[in-house]
Amino acid sequence: MRETQPKSLTARDQNYLWHPLTQHKTAPPPLGIVRAEGALLFDEKGNTYIDGIASWYTAMYGHANRHIVDAMTRQMQQLDFVMFSGFTHKPAIELAERLLALLPSNQRRIFFNDNGSTAIEAGIKMALQYHHNQGEKRDTLIAFEDGFHGDTFGAMSASGLSVYNGPFEDFLLKVKRIPVPQEDNLADVLSQLKAIIDENACAAFVFEPLVQGAAGMKFHTAKGLDALMAICQKAGVLCIADEIMTGFGKTGKIFASDHLEQQPDMVCLSKALTAGMFPLSITSASEQVFNAFLSDEVHRGFFHAHTYSAHPVGCAAALAGLDLLTSEQIAERRSYIAKAHEKFIDKIPGHPAVENARTMGVILAVDLAVETDRYGNFRDKLYTFFMDRGVNLRPLGNTLYTLPPYVITNEQLQQVYDVMEAALDAVETWQS
Ligand SMILES: *Cc1c(COP(=O)(O)O)cnc(C)c1O
Repeated sequence: MRETQPKSLTARDQNYLWHPLTQHKTAPPPLGIVRAEGALLFDEKGNTYIDGIASWYTAMYGHANRHIVDAMTRQMQQLDFVMFSGFTHKPAIELAERLLALLPSNQRRIFFNDNGSTAIEAGIKMALQYHHNQGEKRDTLIAFEDGFHGDTFGAMSASGLSVYNGPFEDFLLKVKRIPVPQEDNLADVLSQLKAIIDENACAAFVFEPLVQGAAGMKFHTAKGLDALMAICQKAGVLCIADEIMTGFGKTGKIFASDHLEQQPDMVCLSKALTAGMFPLSITSASEQVFNAFLSDEVHRGFFHAHTYSAHPVGCAAALAGLDLLTSEQIAERRSYIAKAHEKFIDKIPGHPAVENARTMGVILAVDLAVETDRYGNFRDKLYTFFMDRGVNLRPLGNTLYTLPPYVITNEQLQQVYDVMEAALDAVETWQS
């Protein structure tokens, strides 16, 4: 016997890799993916999957998008990378100009980071130093229950999903939590916030505007969030909008903040910023925040950097992404998907397996009427159910959701709905 068949990616992975969010003792081995195009993923065995969540809401203009790949290739050949301290470059400047034209009108400065967590981390540090520079010690953050802001220490502190935070709880920043505002609890949430502000030295309020992604695509009201932000702003508590999931058109407007009357002091963007092509993020700030760092004393500046800040290739990807976001073709697709989601939502509430179904923009979520752990067997069974039918959907606890790439075809979108409906029927038989 000579050489045996080369081992699969799945098999080779098992020897050396440590995956995120994975209990390696019990998790099934990961799938080897060899190619992606548009809304499709291709595995090493030749199977095809519709990417129903755009690979964690990043690849909104489709995988391997030509326009973006070309822009990145040109950028790599022109200027691959240069450090961003002491140097600047056109892709960063142009991206700042174009983002600021789209962001809430009070945003004036773009600070570059390299992923979502570090965008939040920078925002929190800016808020703490903003008060420090004005001679005030403010040591407390305000955040929503069940929020998710990333996995570095500051971001993790603001996150309220305890399944991620357990072992680290004694080492986190000081955070006070409030429930998200709904129609029926607003007065209560407002008085909780006022009490927290009265009793603590609050530096910033960190929130995912309108939609809490990792919590299970949970929605809250713009009216309620506006009221909370108004109270914070009156008390000098900086508002940090985490638009890492919601940004770039997913909620129906370019940013979720566009649904609000109040304007955040800072905005964090990543994920769809580079359309899944490159790790990059930004933290934008108002003039007022930026000005608090101006001084003849060097140490009042913001001494925080990542080596790959403002990577030119990432900026080129983001610029090409913005071309697409603001194109007629993508606008048409976004409104098609939003309308199709609404039709789907109208159809299923009578289903006995459905507790709640909701949609905003291209986000569609269905809560199942079952009690389950966030990472329990039930959730795994659902995930496998979808993958076996060629659709990548990752249930969050008992919530099924899709957030498809804007370029998903009508037929592919129908397939996503079909497997979701099939899951509703199947779930009923699993329980009995
Ligand atoms: C994904 C996400 C983050 C963290 O971003 P990473 O790039 O994974 O560090 C933070 N906030 C929200 C709302 C997210 O969806």
